[in-house]
Amino acid sequence: MNNNNKILALFGKSGAGKDTIAKELCKNTNEFHQLISCTTRPKRDYEINGKDYFFISNDKYKELLNNNQFLEVTTFNNWNYGTLKQANNINKINVGVFNIQGIYNMLSNPLLINYRILPVYIYASDKIRLNRLFNREKYPNYKEICRRFLTDEEDFKDIPFYYTLYNNDNNEG
Ligand code: 5GP
Repeated sequence: MNNNNKILALFGKSGAGKDTIAKELCKNTNEFHQLISCTTRPKRDYEINGKDYFFISNDKYKELLNNNQFLEVTTFNNWNYGTLKQANNINKINVGVFNIQGIYNMLSNPLLINYRILPVYIYASDKIRLNRLFNREKYPNYKEICRRFLTDEEDFKDIPFYYTLYNNDNNEG
């Protein structure tokens, strides 16, 4: 057993800039390692397989789940997401993007007692987030953006753990 598993767990509403922050942190220093999640949701046009996510089939997801390969999993909008145990680098601070449920599951999982998990809430105002969401894809799905916006309102009413707040309003993009 070791106590060296460190996870900086970023979470926030859609368009707050979580993924950009995770990438920037890991690009510019040697101390951080980015945890790339697996997901069964379809790729968006600006995303790159292996950089943004590992886009996997439902069968592959089930196989990994049955073989106990995931550190944590969640279901969001009928798609599955998960972070692979093998993605974790014990020599670095691992930076991952999670939903609230995923962070809660990790914090309350007795098997992860040796993981130090620091939740960081990436905040941005509604106006800035909506602007980002409308501009990040060539052909935005406006209905989907509105649906996500309203779901976030509900999901973020109650955050069942302590966290650090980072205001990302000033970093446009
Ligand atoms: P999106 O599909 O918009 O990229 O992400 C949907 C939600 O799933 C976001 O709240 C995102 O933070 C979360 N998410 C992405 N990857 C993971 C993961 O590996 N585990 C968990 N628990 N949530 C994730």
